[in-house]
Amino acid sequence: MNAKRYNPFSEELKKQFGCRVHRISVDAGFSCPNRDGTVGVGGCIFCSDQGSGSFGIARGMSIAEQVEHGKEVMTRKYKAHKFIAYFQPYSNTYAPTAQLRAAYDEALAVPEVVGLIVGTRPDCLPAETITLLEEYHRKTYFWLELGLQSPHDRTLARIRRGHDSAVFMAAARAVKAMGIRLCVHVILGLPGESREEMLATAAILNDLGVDGVKIHLLHVNRGTPLAEMYARGEIQLLERVEYVGLVCDFLERLHPDIIIHRLTGDGGRDLLAPLWSAAKFEVLNALDDEMERRGSRQGGRSQPVA
Ligand code: SF4
Repeated sequence: MNAKRYNPFSEELKKQFGCRVHRISVDAGFSCPNRDGTVGVGGCIFCSDQGSGSFGIARGMSIAEQVEHGKEVMTRKYKAHKFIAYFQPYSNTYAPTAQLRAAYDEALAVPEVVGLIVGTRPDCLPAETITLLEEYHRKTYFWLELGLQSPHDRTLARIRRGHDSAVFMAAARAVKAMGIRLCVHVILGLPGESREEMLATAAILNDLGVDGVKIHLLHVNRGTPLAEMYARGEIQLLERVEYVGLVCDFLERLHPDIIIHRLTGDGGRDLLAPLWSAAKFEVLNALDDEMERRGSRQGGRSQPVA
């Protein structure tokens, strides 16, 4: 039985596969339209030029080599024997479909790889790409991760996201219409966004019928435009107690069936602030304690979905 007061991804994987399944991050060498000049050159303000979430991943290795390497490490550490290849940094649908197919197939061909997670931006999903993804949805355990960060256009412009919320909504609906499992990334604590706006995001995700959510704390990492804003004193970061309260409020408003892929991150080796977030397990424990103290659960305050 799930002892958590929310619906964790680890439990979903145990239900699907009967054991723990470990994610292996893969860098397939794709780019991002918000970096290569197609929609922008500087990227989102929180992203370094290695692409969001790229730390610890070896470029220069083939996809199969990266997966084999990840398997070796996890087998040694956790005695793991089932894996999901996670195409994480940059925009992993930003290429012609033949190239995408070759990349996904290379990862899936590695023994003991039981599924794929593909992370991308909503403006990198033309119809033929969604058709390709649906094929993988049918033949393996497949999730599409879509970066939203905020559904509020004012915030999206402020963080130089390079698309508005209408683009995200259209992409999310097209993906859902094909039955593909959809996980959406949101960031809490983005500059200029009110608490009410952040909590309104949960209701928007409920209405869209998303299958999963990844909640991130706003990190300031070295080498990002956000780091410059931080140095100039232009942004205010959340304290741990504020973040914990906010995430609990968010979870209470989220539909109970939505799978929680992440509740916080540690920012990686380039973390500049807030430094408390590096103690990821302490944050997760504080979240559990706060949900317990409130006697609340995920979805406890969600509005019924029509
Ligand atoms: S969409 Fe992702 S990879 Fe591209 S600039 Fe933004 S965070 Fe970085």
